Amino acid sequence: MSKFLNKKLFHYLYVFLFLNSAILPVKSSSALAAWSLKTNGVLELRTKSNTNLKAYFQRANQIYGDRFWVDFPGELKKPRTIRGNGSIKEIRLGKPENGKTRLVIEFKENTYLNPLTWRMVGLDKNRWRIKLFRPKSSFKRIGEGLVTTRDSNFKKNKNINYLKNRGQNYLQLPNVKQNKFKVVIDPGHGGLDPGAIGIGGIRETDVVLEVSKIVKKLLSEKGVKVSLTRNNEVDLDLFPRVSFANKMNADIFVSIHANASRGKRRDINGLETFYFRGWRGRLLAKKIQKQILRVSPGSPDRGVKQGRFYVIKNTRMPAVLVEIGFLTGRLDARRLEKEAHRKRIAYAIAKGILEYLSKVG
Ligand SMILES: [Zn+2]
Repeated sequence: MSKFLNKKLFHYLYVFLFLNSAILPVKSSSALAAWSLKTNGVLELRTKSNTNLKAYFQRANQIYGDRFWVDFPGELKKPRTIRGNGSIKEIRLGKPENGKTRLVIEFKENTYLNPLTWRMVGLDKNRWRIKLFRPKSSFKRIGEGLVTTRDSNFKKNKNINYLKNRGQNYLQLPNVKQNKFKVVIDPGHGGLDPGAIGIGGIRETDVVLEVSKIVKKLLSEKGVKVSLTRNNEVDLDLFPRVSFANKMNADIFVSIHANASRGKRRDINGLETFYFRGWRGRLLAKKIQKQILRVSPGSPDRGVKQGRFYVIKNTRMPAVLVEIGFLTGRLDARRLEKEAHRKRIAYAIAKGILEYLSKVG
């Protein structure tokens, strides 16, 4: 290692700094949206667009091992520590001071690191990557959220590419009368409320927002007017979700969620759909449940049930709440982590909705 690095215990190596005019106010929520330390030793980050990042490296001392960290503007809600594996001792998400978020990666002893060669590369206005180490033994990915999600993702995806690999019959979406129906899709949680947090840090809010956006796209292509209760990571109470749907006099309301089991049991998986009242709500729930099961082979059918959730109880149209799998379950989480599966789930929900609309109208 260079002299520079060995000189002092508390010597920071400043890796890279991005300057940008857009500096977020202190009170805002964390600019870190998702991160993933992949099996090849590459760290990928997703942030708010045009975020200022600062990255540092510090050699081991008596207390800590070698550490790499990145500071983000915006306040972290829940400081937490995630156990590492392979060369990684642990990963900490902390709040070094009010209004800041710090992601710390602490390495185990005897991991060969060469920070002088490190480069943080901007992949996009909101995505970054940096190669940190070369895993000697196998290293299992650690991360939270979906780093690949991009704001513009769905707009770019003009040809529904994601359906190509699956050329089967469920790709046929039923037709409905154009410009006749209004549907409200409600991605659960959002903003400071991430909902369920599952294996590897996968967050309900990210998964359901992405799925909801695809459902909207698919239904829109069929001439259905679709509105989302939220379009991005914002905190949204239950009341405005309901009043939004009631005011616009939607034909149906579909709230999309993912589950977590108590005690985060990995053996608990499955899908379920809730309605509160009426045969229409029940029929809609049934149609959706049937379709999501078809794209989730092996995951248990937890059934169509009556539930007293606020959003389906207080909406005036047929309303359902669908749980697309357990983020804490081994089988479901592994699937929901994959973009291809989230697209299949979205497709299934859209199909259930269209079947309902074409039948009941
Ligand atoms: Zn939820």
